[in-house]
Amino acid sequence: MPASWAAASRCADEMADPGAVSDALVPGSGKVAGSAEIADAAQLAGAAEIYDVLVVGAGPAGSGAARAAAAGGARVCVLERSAMPRYKTCGGGLVGLSTDHVGIDLSGLVRSTVSELTITLDGRYEVSRHRRDAHPWLSMVMRSELDAALLAAAQTAGASVRTGVQVLGLEESAADGGFVAVRVRDGRDLRARVVIGADGTSGRCGTYVGVHCDQVDVGLEGEFVVERAVADRWAGRMLLDWGPVPGSYGWVFPKGRVLTVGVIGDRSRGGELRGYYRRLVERLGLTDAPREHDSGHLTRVRAAGSPLRRGRVLVAGDAAGLLDPWTREGISFALRSGRLAGEAAVAAVAAQRGAGSAGSAGLTALDGYPAKVERILGPEMVAGAEVLAAFTRRPVVMHALLSSPGTFGLFTRLIEGRTTIARQLRRPGVRAAVVALAR
Ligand SMILES: Cc1cc2nc3c(=O)[nH]c(=O)nc-3n(C[C@H](O)[C@H](O)[C@H](O)COP(=O)(O)OP(=O)(O)OC[C@H]3O[C@@H](n4cnc5c(N)ncnc54)[C@H](O)[C@@H]3O)c2cc1C
Repeated sequence: MPASWAAASRCADEMADPGAVSDALVPGSGKVAGSAEIADAAQLAGAAEIYDVLVVGAGPAGSGAARAAAAGGARVCVLERSAMPRYKTCGGGLVGLSTDHVGIDLSGLVRSTVSELTITLDGRYEVSRHRRDAHPWLSMVMRSELDAALLAAAQTAGASVRTGVQVLGLEESAADGGFVAVRVRDGRDLRARVVIGADGTSGRCGTYVGVHCDQVDVGLEGEFVVERAVADRWAGRMLLDWGPVPGSYGWVFPKGRVLTVGVIGDRSRGGELRGYYRRLVERLGLTDAPREHDSGHLTRVRAAGSPLRRGRVLVAGDAAGLLDPWTREGISFALRSGRLAGEAAVAAVAAQRGAGSAGSAGLTALDGYPAKVERILGPEMVAGAEVLAAFTRRPVVMHALLSSPGTFGLFTRLIEGRTTIARQLRRPGVRAAVVALAR
């Protein structure tokens, strides 16, 4: 039994996470299908479990990691505290980079696609544009359904899954070639050569690794069930509203008879954001519409240099603070970092097997993960932060710019994943404009 466990929680104010994930099922969600059995916490009791890779959390980062690691031949188990499918406060908007990296057939999951975009500045100066060709800008999913499908894909690749299992802490040991002991609520410890922490914004793994963030936002969001006539008005169209709280924005994402409406912005201005959310819902005429869910959740953006690994533990997705600081788009970051973590874990396990009990060979193989994340996702995050600074300082100018046909076209190419903010900021004219606006 390890002598001490990782700090059980982040600092107290962050434990006031308004988005504690609800276990409520979204109507119409399917049961997770897959090749491996799903066990619950009770089945864990009494078992002495040793895996190559334990993945904590079954969001896009965790399932992406588990799938990559299992496909690479590792013995993998995913530990998820909720019953699946589970609700997650999220717009469920899949940008091009998400659909590019999701790795599963989305045709049965996409509730709606968007080829018309309306942008407003706190409800005013409305500009709408639509695509003339058949390709949509964005695909809309229910996160409960997407996450269940991604988990099923991980199971099909060979990962086993245990739901209703809450991880409480991690402890590394040099014994037996090196392993991580994972302590779970109401069950015996599990062990693995590598742990991938994909347990979201307020998870234990980020605390263990020492992730630190310099931007913390809160998102407030509801799923509104609307009359058919209202649904028809929004079919194929989404709204982005630049909000009155600096750096904030709101959205309407259409999903048939459900509209996902939300706002996101600086957590320290939570009271103002609640007022903004209420007014947005009023303006849309939805105050009395039934809500399937109405909840809040934090997003946290890692600070420069924040660790992505400690010993045999890697962090991915929200657990590592990986998301776009401006749009707060995180699914593509979770999918990409999850897969990279899974691949690094496979390399580490293989190196350790090759080295027998001289387990430090595996540790060297894990070094590739932070380096790849910094190289691939780092520039995107830096660029997103620069645009957020301009957007926070000069929302009116940003609205005017984004409303003009040229910049609007650029914005939609970003959404589609045909370019990135980082690539655009390498153009001297664009960089100069963004830097000037941020002053
Ligand atoms: C309001 C809002 C709207 C958003 N809209 C969008 C959007 O439209 N498009 C987009 O791309 N991104 C959006 N995001 C961001 C996106 O939701 C996240 O970036 C994404 O969910 C990150 O995935 P993840 O797998 O890292 O973490 P999560 O999806 O949060 O998954 C973490 C999992 O870990 C589990 N877990 C937590 N703690 C433990 C524990 N101790 N033991 C076991 N399991 C545990 C949780 O139950 C959960 O299933 C939005 C965020 C917010 C707040």
